[in-house]
Amino acid sequence: MTTEFDLGCATCGGALQERSVDAESLGVGGEGTVPVAECPECGDRYVPEQTLHRIGGRKRT
Ligand SMILES: [Zn+2]
Repeated sequence: MTTEFDLGCATCGGALQERSVDAESLGVGGEGTVPVAECPECGDRYVPEQTLHRIGGRKRT
């Protein structure tokens, strides 16, 4: 199974690192933090599919 970490950064090709960010900062609401893949080179962030599923399960409007 291919993950965001295997693909690397789509912008600069850098190796992505896992980080935890506030769910709120992703604009999804919810509580606590969610894991994202962040590029240390250019700062781009990628949300792993598994995180999206988690967000979807907790999203409130
Ligand atoms: Zn990058």
